[in-house]
Parts: sequence; structure tokens; C-alpha cells
Amino acid sequence: MEDLIITKLSKTYHTGIKAIQNISLQIPKGMYGLLGPNGAGKSTLMRTLATLQAPDTGSIYLGQLNVLENPVELRKVLGYLPQQFGVYPKLSSEMLLDHLAVLKGIMNGAERKEIIQALLHKVNLYEVKKQNLGEFSGGMKQRFGIAQALLNNPMLLIVDEPTAGLDPVERNRFYDLLSEVSQQTIVILSTHIVEDVKQLCTNMAIINKGQVVMEGKPQVIIDNLQGKLYQKTIQKSELESYKETYRVISQRLYQGNQIIHIISETHPGSDFKAIDANLEDVYMSQILNA
Ligand code: ADP
Repeated sequence: MEDLIITKLSKTYHTGIKAIQNISLQIPKGMYGLLGPNGAGKSTLMRTLATLQAPDTGSIYLGQLNVLENPVELRKVLGYLPQQFGVYPKLSSEMLLDHLAVLKGIMNGAERKEIIQALLHKVNLYEVKKQNLGEFSGGMKQRFGIAQALLNNPMLLIVDEPTAGLDPVERNRFYDLLSEVSQQTIVILSTHIVEDVKQLCTNMAIINKGQVVMEGKPQVIIDNLQGKLYQKTIQKSELESYKETYRVISQRLYQGNQIIHIISETHPGSDFKAIDANLEDVYMSQILNA
């Protein structure tokens, strides 16, 4: 299957906010994580990829398909789970899927039934298919959201902040489902949760203030920081002076003490301890230094 290629995409809203600036990415089959803080431009990018809004400049190709010139063609092979996904609370998942399938053009009743039953199994909602959606938990609703996004067997699945509000068990179940889907599909997942990307994604980009600040395979990105990361436990009152002297990328309180991580090309002194880098450190270093 062919890659999604995004070239120099930019969008400035009428308010003057440059939501995305010159974003270029090549996204292959599998799970792709878009990691960034709130306001980074993730949703803007995803809505643009889903052809729900137009960029000011730039191009998007899915294989040979020029997405911005052929939005209708793209939508045929697109599944999209927006950040705010409303359901009709009085309908069952089976009924709503049936309505949505008709809207997506699956007119043959027998075919529709077969697709829907298979999807309900896939997202693990078959047992509760008659239950009203209003009674579903957050995780069940998100899995329903994936089911509706998969109705047309998409080549490209876009999910915007899907794990917000899920408890750890629901989150893991949701990860499993996305992983399975990503075997045959390009799946783009936006999140501000580092853990989501670490567990799931084979490729990733960190975006901040509308720009791609880092891109690649999570492990390679982590390796770039290896050997440059040091930790020290200090007094809370010392924090400001450490920030003036060192490149502090994270600070957290642990049992009343302040633990800081810094980046340094050389060993910063005997009281610092060299530590292994992780994705959280990479992310913090990119976001804080921007
Ligand atoms: P993220 O999904 O990473 O939180 P968004 O793409 O939602 O980021 O937002 C990027 C920036 O663009 C933010 O500053 C946001 O306030 C602004 N923004 C988003 N949508 C609109 C809009 N429709 N009109 C004006 N500004 C917007």
C-alpha cells in the first residue's frame, strides 16, 4: 500500500493564528503518532487530512491520489474519528451502524448486515449490540467510533485524541484494536499522551506551535538523546538557580524532593547521575525548548 505524503501544508485562521506551518510528513502503513501539547495544531492537521477544511498552501497525496483536488475520492477510503464524537443515545450500536452504513452507500441489506456483525465482533461490542449507546462507557463509545470509521474498510484511518478520558483497562483494549487495524491500514493517531505513542506507534512526529519539531521511529528518537541525560535530586528552593545553569527538561516532585532531568553534552559534575533516555524526556526537551 502506498504512503500518505504531506508537503508544506500551512493554515492560518482568520484570527491570525498560524495553526500549522509548513508541515511535511511521509506516513506509511501502520500506526503513526502525532504527539503534541494542546494547541499544537494536531486537530487542524487531521481535519485537513480528512478534507473537512482546506489548507492555505501545500499538498497531500495518498499514493497517486491528489487529496485536496479529489476530496470525494479520498472520503471513500477514509475513516475518521473526530475528537468530539456524538452518538444518538437512544439508539443501539447496531442500529446506528446500520444508519451510518446506508449513508456511506452500503445499500445491499444482506451485505450491510454482514459487515456490521463482523465489525461489532471486531470492536468487541457484539454482546451489547442491542444496548442503547447512551448507556455505554467512554471506552465502549470510542470502540463504537472506530467501528463506524471502519464501515467502508478505509485505507486511511484518522483518530483524534481517542484515549482522552479512558481508564487504563479501556485504553489498553482500545490500543489492541487500533494495532490490529493498523496491520492493513495507515492509522494516524493524535495525542498529548506520550504513553500512547510509546506503546503503539511504529513512527511518530512531535508537533509544537504548528511545526514538526522531530520525526522518526520512537526508538531512534530516544537513542538520539542517549548519553546526554542526567538526573539529580535537589531542594525545591534550588530549582530556579539550576534552571539558570543547566538545560532542565523535566522537574517533578518525588516524596517531597525535587528531581530534575537535564541535557548535557558532557558530564555536568559529580552529583549528577547519568540516566537512560525515554520518550517523555525527548518530548519535554522538544516542547520546553521551543
Ligand atoms: P491541537 O489539536 O493540537 O490541540 P488545534 O489544531 O485544535 O490544536 O489548534 C491549533 C491552534 O489553532 C490553537 O491555537 C487553536 O486555538 C487554533 N484554532 C483551532 N481551530 C480554530 C478555528 N476554527 N478558528 C480559529 N482558531 C482555531
